[in-house]
Amino acid sequence: MEDKYEAVIGLEVHAQLQTASKLFCGDSIAFGAKPNSHVSPITLGHPGTLPKTNKKAVEYAIKLGLACNCEIEENNYFARKNYFYPDLPKGYQISQHTTPICKGGFVKIKTTEGERNVQLNRIHMEEDAGKSIHDRDDDYTCVDLNRAGTALVEIVTEPDLHSSDEAYQYVTELRRLVRWIDICDGNMEEGSLRCDANVSVRLKGEKKLGTKVEVKNLNSIRNVKKAIDFEIQRMINIIENGGTITQQTRSFDASNDTTFSLRDKEEANDYRYFPDPDLAPFHLTKDFINKIQSSLPTLPNQLIHQYQNEFGLSDYDAAQLCDEKHTADFFQSTIQFTQHYKAVANWITGPIRQYLNEHHLSFETILLSPKTLAELIKIVDDGKVNFSVASSHLLPLLMKENKDPLQLAEELNLLQVSDSNELEEWVNEAINKMSDKVVEYKKGKKGLIGLFVGEVKKLSKGKADPKIVTALLQEKLK
Ligand code: ADP
Ligand code: MG
Repeated sequence: MEDKYEAVIGLEVHAQLQTASKLFCGDSIAFGAKPNSHVSPITLGHPGTLPKTNKKAVEYAIKLGLACNCEIEENNYFARKNYFYPDLPKGYQISQHTTPICKGGFVKIKTTEGERNVQLNRIHMEEDAGKSIHDRDDDYTCVDLNRAGTALVEIVTEPDLHSSDEAYQYVTELRRLVRWIDICDGNMEEGSLRCDANVSVRLKGEKKLGTKVEVKNLNSIRNVKKAIDFEIQRMINIIENGGTITQQTRSFDASNDTTFSLRDKEEANDYRYFPDPDLAPFHLTKDFINKIQSSLPTLPNQLIHQYQNEFGLSDYDAAQLCDEKHTADFFQSTIQFTQHYKAVANWITGPIRQYLNEHHLSFETILLSPKTLAELIKIVDDGKVNFSVASSHLLPLLMKENKDPLQLAEELNLLQVSDSNELEEWVNEAINKMSDKVVEYKKGKKGLIGLFVGEVKKLSKGKADPKIVTALLQEKLK
């Protein structure tokens, strides 16, 4: 029955720009400050105050637009979107109306069928509202206006997504992108990234869009997926039972993964938009836009291809390294010192990442220097230390203090032993210990060699060179 239908989804994502101050005044945007402590008369919209546009915010919006292949609007103005709400002290929100700063464009996502471009409708700038807090007092709703006036971009897709998985991939990619170009921390729990999902269903092959519902304020990528899944099923059930979909604004209930109606949306709201008379229209020169373009870092999708083509890394390794920018930066710095690209990738996505995760650290503040990692790789490669000793004994120390890995290995007596005389003692010990296995081996169970090598490894605390040990054992067990 589900095969009869096609889901159509459009997402509206609000991203809070990491500027120092708000979109139209100098108030701080710091999260978690004492309520109503960052509220100048401009934020409060007192008569006679004059807003001024934050240039950094404009720059950030353009950065994102360029990263998403949008066309940048050169002639912009801000408009007032008029409505009443307790957390909107001015009685209007300053937004962009007919001139979104970025038009068109796309975001590339990975799906089970390969890569695909999700078409964007626009990216526009607007200020955030304050916060209404309903659970702080039994009788009253409290209002915190610290967030009011904070700079946002709203990224609006075309109705171009067709499953909750695609929506999941899209938001994941968008979050990586805003973090990568350093314009938003992408933190959904703190509300720096918020997603509204518009969902409709139609019969497969049908051209006309079905009636949509909008699910508001999804605060995690998993909830975006769950809300969409629930909506698609709910709508199909209604249609299958002969009902019709009503256009609604809905909310997601994370306690049971369902959505519920907030209000019916019978006609379009009339916000009486008009250009804000206190803010002059602003013109962006080509030069200004070009400068921003040339300041953009290589984007993750390009970098993944580059890592595969130039360094011969697997799709998986390249994607892991480009999961976030600091990881890619660390890889990039390390390969200035070594050409063992695959080894660098393995160290970064393996033991180093594991150490960072276990200690709640990140590549952004890593103490291990890229040069030291390159040296560590070299001494493993040269057979001076084996990999497991290097990753389990040397790495944890080098993560705390930069030292010469070879010297450290010497100090700790961890150098691999390849001197046959020394190795012979461990080999003899192993053979004596496992005399029953020796009999089996001599009868033809050659696979047991690994067991002997393992025993020598244990006896030598990982210091015995396994290649030489294997040769010695084969010789002795003949
Ligand atoms: P509204 O005026 O209700 O905000 P918009 O036309 O601005 O609607 O679109 C808002 C979002 O909803 C966009 O992301 C758009 O792609 C998406 N959308 C519009 N119509 C549909 C539909 N029928 N089904 C799914 N998504 C839709
Ligand atoms: Mg809308």
